[in-house]
Amino acid sequence: MKCTRGLEKVGERRFKKIEVGGPAINFDYAHFLPSSPKCGVLHGHTSMVNVAVVGEVVDDMVVEFSQLKQTVKKVIDEMDHKLIVASKYIVETSDGSYRIVFKGVGGVYDLRVPKNSVYVIERDSTVENISEHITSRIRERMPPNVYKVVVRMTEGLGKSATSSV
Ligand SMILES: [Zn+2]
Repeated sequence: MKCTRGLEKVGERRFKKIEVGGPAINFDYAHFLPSSPKCGVLHGHTSMVNVAVVGEVVDDMVVEFSQLKQTVKKVIDEMDHKLIVASKYIVETSDGSYRIVFKGVGGVYDLRVPKNSVYVIERDSTVENISEHITSRIRERMPPNVYKVVVRMTEGLGKSATSSV
């Protein structure tokens, strides 16, 4: 049986990629990478985020731009001006604070920081791992017609990582 209804083919599905990004979508964070000879000290970056979303066109759209922008902003705002740290460096949790200990450049760092100034992720806070984290947070907030999210995140000037899920 032929799959047609009038002139319109039934079952013809369209897939598109849409993107948001640019200097307005950015956040600042602090981190440390103990295994790196340069980044094993507490320091910070300003990061820009570009997000591409691939999905089926439903009602002439994949996702509304404003909805996508809002989602991206919400995800990165939670990390903005925070110390992004891997859970393995938190050695103690008390009422409102974390004790964070790591051996980095110059010796042992032993920090007591308010919980609300920290954003905890599973792995070390490299740009690869942070972008992966952002990708999955955006992915779980997308409608079912979206099947792929790609995030490109810069770490300061001229360095970036791309993750997709
Ligand atoms: Zn860094």
